[in-house]
Amino acid sequence: MVGRSDALLDPAGPSPDVVIVGGGVVGCSLAYRLAESGLRVTLVERGELGAQSTGRCAGGVRKQFSSEANVRIQQLAFELLRRFPDETGFPCDFRQIGYLMLLSSQDQAVSFRAQLAMWHRLGVSEARWVGPDEVAEMVPALRVDDLLGATFCPTDGIASPNDVTQGYAAAARRRGARIEQGVEVTGIKVEGGRVSGLDTSAGSLSCPLVVVCAGAWSSALVEPLGFPLPVVPYRRHIFVSEATPAVGPDTPMTVDVATSFYFHPEGGGALFGMGEADERPGFELDVDWGILERMEPVIRHRIPTLLDAGIRTGWAGLYEVTPDHNPFIGAIPEPEGLWCACGFSGHGFQQAPAVGLALAQMITGDVPAVDLSAFSPSRDPAGGNPEENFI
Ligand SMILES: Cc1cc2nc3c(=O)[nH]c(=O)nc-3n(C[C@H](O)[C@H](O)[C@H](O)COP(=O)(O)OP(=O)(O)OC[C@H]3O[C@@H](n4cnc5c(N)ncnc54)[C@H](O)[C@@H]3O)c2cc1C
Repeated sequence: MVGRSDALLDPAGPSPDVVIVGGGVVGCSLAYRLAESGLRVTLVERGELGAQSTGRCAGGVRKQFSSEANVRIQQLAFELLRRFPDETGFPCDFRQIGYLMLLSSQDQAVSFRAQLAMWHRLGVSEARWVGPDEVAEMVPALRVDDLLGATFCPTDGIASPNDVTQGYAAAARRRGARIEQGVEVTGIKVEGGRVSGLDTSAGSLSCPLVVVCAGAWSSALVEPLGFPLPVVPYRRHIFVSEATPAVGPDTPMTVDVATSFYFHPEGGGALFGMGEADERPGFELDVDWGILERMEPVIRHRIPTLLDAGIRTGWAGLYEVTPDHNPFIGAIPEPEGLWCACGFSGHGFQQAPAVGLALAQMITGDVPAVDLSAFSPSRDPAGGNPEENFI
């Protein structure tokens, strides 16, 4: 861990070209890419790197998204995850065990058949339709008699959020980025319509560019400057079971689309979670063990033998949700010099590798490797088609 350094506030020291607020996976990925492009980068994190949403996430990585823009981001993200150990010198435990989307209603089946055609058109040719019998062969513990089918992409999978974050942070440091932990940004300073610096718990800092990568806390930094950025926190839980024959090491990440219940193999057991219909926004992170009782009927219906396994651990983290479940990525129109990458609505771990690269290219004036214009902070986030709200 890199501790707070007085040099951060050293008026004689060189000012950074850009300051990134937030040291989750998104901020660290961006820090690496900006430092790689030769900019003087400082990343300011009020806690420890990757300790918030990133460190509490399920690690799912898929190409099966409902919008073309998200599929394209994921195609680049997969390429970057495959190259991650070579690029950064760190492992990322990328396990391509596949993602299996279980579909039990006619509406879902129609929607996912249309998405499958779109995935094929974009080059995700390995994704395919799977009938209930084949689903049962793939995951024998599942109940399949009410399924119309599933989509399966064998190259989807899981990776380690901690490894990816620490790997990008270490690679950023190697390229000269400063990473300051235990320092909170308390305000963004503006002079003459331009960003001029930051106030922090360790004093003030001058810089012409600020990128807000503060996850569920991003609105509080941007909205005081007069730009609405609706990113709303919702608590989501994860539980990990003791070892169970219901879920083996090669069992795909499995999502019950109707309920959002999902599971994947983890340390001999199963990691699982589910959203709830009546969630209320808030920053609370205490574990509500009562959710296990509310999940019980869903698990009993879909994978009853999972209930035979004890619970090893559980935790909660924040989804950072926007009205259309898509992130805000890009320049904020005013003040000049203010950028953001936040509001990933439960998909930010898997999008971070591609977003870090493409956003760095936008900031430095290069052509981005993937088009992020659909995610502009200036769009109407209440219009358009919302992205699916599952893991
Ligand atoms: C239970 C759960 C399961 C999930 N599963 C998946 C999954 O399977 N796949 C997937 O892709 N995504 C998943 N996600 C979503 C994913 O975790 C997030 O989208 C992603 O981690 C967002 O990364 P981030 O860097 O934007 O935010 P964060 O990781 O939250 O980082 C933001 C950082 O900013 C810091 N910060 C905030 N305000 C300030 C300030 N004023 N000054 C300094 N620092 C500040 C915070 O301390 C924090 O460290 C899941 C999330 C949860 C909660």
